[in-house]
Amino acid sequence: MLADSYGRIATDMRVSLTDRCNLRCAYCMPPEGLEWLPKPEVLTGDEVTRLVRIGVELLGIREVRFTGGEPLLRRDLAAIVSQTAALAPRPDISLTTNGIGLARTAATLREAGLDRVNVSLDTLRPEVFRKLALRDRLPDVLDGLEAAAAAGLGPVKVNTVLMRGINDDEAESLLAYCLERGYELRFIEQMPLDAQHGWKRAEMVTADEIYQQLSQAHDLSPDAERIRGAAPAETFLVDGGPGRVGIIASVTRPFCGACDRVRLTADGQVRNCLFAREESDLRSPLRGGATDEEIAERWRVAVAGKLPGHGINDPSFLQPDRPMSAIGG
Ligand code: SF4
Repeated sequence: MLADSYGRIATDMRVSLTDRCNLRCAYCMPPEGLEWLPKPEVLTGDEVTRLVRIGVELLGIREVRFTGGEPLLRRDLAAIVSQTAALAPRPDISLTTNGIGLARTAATLREAGLDRVNVSLDTLRPEVFRKLALRDRLPDVLDGLEAAAAAGLGPVKVNTVLMRGINDDEAESLLAYCLERGYELRFIEQMPLDAQHGWKRAEMVTADEIYQQLSQAHDLSPDAERIRGAAPAETFLVDGGPGRVGIIASVTRPFCGACDRVRLTADGQVRNCLFAREESDLRSPLRGGATDEEIAERWRVAVAGKLPGHGINDPSFLQPDRPMSAIGG
């Protein structure tokens, strides 16, 4: 097992397959992009699936989420998914994507074994999309969502980050859009993980503000049908259900006490927390001929040293050097 000294056990593995992305979201990276990881340092498809296999077979991983950067940029994504689906016990397999290219690949990924998808969507207005992501790709994202639903990748979840003065007036219209189509919308508080280190608490739209805004138009009631467990989102029934909305209060109401997540970066580093300031290298032993058990042991040690939480609210908090785009959701 991947246990830490606070009694938490990591069973949910987030795998960043690339740090590259085809959008430039303002809360993530600068307009010019970033210096991407050198190709030789990025894990091959076989290396990724070997580490996922070790996680599932030796370390109790039961959920695998593929992220990026933008994971749809990996041409071998379907092969990685199908090799993951062939593992025993079969993990639950999900994907976090910006949706560009999903309209073309959703059915293939479903066939390969993908179970669920989360798509990032911060606005329904093309001009705001252009302003936030510096690309004109909103129709692609909306088509991707539709294709995911049609392919049966449900429940299709939508991740939204509200930014003060940019899209914070769209909470209600995004919710209406998602409810009409059966997508499950989750609002995520903006976290200090941008490559520019420009995050400001005052600019963050808080979970309470989002709840207040939505409550003006809807009756939000606690979702008694769902046990939250380690899930990041607090979910609410909208107007008595069945529609739901989630709010992920990473900063103002941290959920680290029940965290079951561990991360693998595209260059083969284990991060025991999204905000970890240290990483453990699995790529070198992997390429150096280490056995599965030796790699598993190094991974166990990495998780054992996990801190109690992200520490964002501590005066001593320091943002990790590695940006969100190279860690993944
Ligand atoms: S911030 Fe770290 S400890 Fe907290 S929930 Fe996220 S990954 Fe887990």
